[in-house]
Amino acid sequence: MKPIKNIYCVGRNYVSHAKELNNAVPTSPFLFSKPTHALVEANGQEVVLPGDQGPVHFETELVLHIGKDYKEGMNVDELVDKMALGIDFTLRDVQSELKEKRYPWLLAKGFPNSALLTKFIEFPGEAACKRKNFSLFKNGEQVQNGNITNLLFDLQTIIDFSAKHFGLGEGDIIFTGTPEGVGPVQDGDSLTLHWGSETLGQSIIRLV
Ligand code: ZN
Repeated sequence: MKPIKNIYCVGRNYVSHAKELNNAVPTSPFLFSKPTHALVEANGQEVVLPGDQGPVHFETELVLHIGKDYKEGMNVDELVDKMALGIDFTLRDVQSELKEKRYPWLLAKGFPNSALLTKFIEFPGEAACKRKNFSLFKNGEQVQNGNITNLLFDLQTIIDFSAKHFGLGEGDIIFTGTPEGVGPVQDGDSLTLHWGSETLGQSIIRLV
């Protein structure tokens, strides 16, 4: 696989998550991006995250890998070649401050290792994805469980929106949003990402 190019992330794409943070439910897709320096693979190793800027929250998300350059009219199953699970790590207090000041979220969302990815697997198609849940286990206990059936804006809408407003091509990835259950990580936490009953990736958190 070629290096990842752009990292797009969808905010507030599950009603249950927008509500748990007392955010308004958006009426059109709401996207932000991360630098590629944010990327880190969940392959059993330690992942270093900032320990000096308030809580770092996990947000578990299904991640699409775009396999070809977008042309209008292409559907999800044509465009997406691979998928992974990811964690969109977020400095929650920093984000709240930025929101208050109406500043961009980059400081809260774009720090190194803030985009954790499992290995990529073949994309089974949107319909098949809807038949499987993704989940996050923290120290052996399930803390998040989601299914893309519950997306506020579905995969096609997100793809068309990204292409129109930012451009979309081979090597781009999209974090599609997190369901409810987000929460802070502690130093030493073990995070395991499951696709149905299959483990796709695992990491140990180091807060420094
Ligand atoms: Zn997110």
